[in-house]
Amino acid sequence: MSDCIFCRIVAGSIPATIVARTPDAVAFRDLNPQAPTHVLVIPAEHIPSMAEADTDRAEGQVGKAMRLAVQVAKELELDQSGYRLVVNTGRDGGQSVGHVHVHLLGGRRMSWPPG
Ligand code: AMP
Repeated sequence: MSDCIFCRIVAGSIPATIVARTPDAVAFRDLNPQAPTHVLVIPAEHIPSMAEADTDRAEGQVGKAMRLAVQVAKELELDQSGYRLVVNTGRDGGQSVGHVHVHLLGGRRMSWPPG
């Protein structure tokens, strides 16, 4: 069994509040939400970070996860008000889980620059 918590969520061996799933990507609620809507969208396949995603295969997997994020934003009716998609990468990017994930944040006005 993988020791990656997001791979375990994909496999269904640890619980998560799943919002949407395709054969290639899974969307689930973040445990520690930073906005009224905070969903994580991940490729089903393990890719440690965007720093390792510059391959043809990863391009497809990340693209499919991004597409699911856009679809979930529509389903949750965020597309009119807007939302933010964030992919933290590496230490300075604030990445804490080593499996590529897109944060879908919405339901409040976001500020810029990010912290
Ligand atoms: P990052 O800091 O960009 O790597 O984001 C990791 C995110 O994963 C954080 O927002 C955590 O709250 C979230 N997280 C960690 N473990 C879980 C889990 N088991 N289920 C849902 N969200 C999680």
